[in-house]
Amino acid sequence: MTTIYFDLDGTLIEYDSSFTEIYDATLRELGVIPHSESEYGEVFFDVLGTVDDPFATAIARTSVDVDPTAFSEMLVAKEIENVSARTGAHTLLESLSGTCSLGVLTNGVSRAQRGKLHATELTDYFDSVIVSGEVGVRKPETNIYRIAERRLPANEYVFVADDLDRDVRPAIECGWYGILFGDETSDDVPSVQQFDEIPHVLDQKDVCSGSSPS
Ligand SMILES: [Mg+2]
Repeated sequence: MTTIYFDLDGTLIEYDSSFTEIYDATLRELGVIPHSESEYGEVFFDVLGTVDDPFATAIARTSVDVDPTAFSEMLVAKEIENVSARTGAHTLLESLSGTCSLGVLTNGVSRAQRGKLHATELTDYFDSVIVSGEVGVRKPETNIYRIAERRLPANEYVFVADDLDRDVRPAIECGWYGILFGDETSDDVPSVQQFDEIPHVLDQKDVCSGSSPS
């Protein structure tokens, strides 16, 4: 049995608006003139994984005068409104269901990541969804890959993700087979630009046999 994990942001889903647009729209909706986005972004990544609600904690540490809880709720709602499943994602996952175990391995906050999966109707394909905020460890830390292995025991593991250094290389170091998705390419890691190329890469590697539509 093969288990294939997918990264979420930038891999299974894409954003219809930039983060700046989502941040600005959030503040406007709360009656605040948008400012300090870069300050917010820096603090957010500092506190991600250390607090229950990094959105609220980060905005509270900026000079933006807004209720942190209201900001957090509105920002997550707007993120969820602005995501779409990547072209070909539903078709690929449908074809892999039944031949492989499928999982999501994502850094972030539970309600945001699970909300985005739900909004794009992707949740039901997956046997396991691992969100860093739920397990207390995040990519590129090796431990999150070990947690993923225990969740869906298999002979071999594949990770499809759009970030080479944070996602794919640490997976390869754990003995997984890595597939880099998106515009970034690598000399030593197979890369694909489209989801419909993935079955061919799996067939070449002879994992998850039967994955290529005949
Ligand atoms: Mg990503």
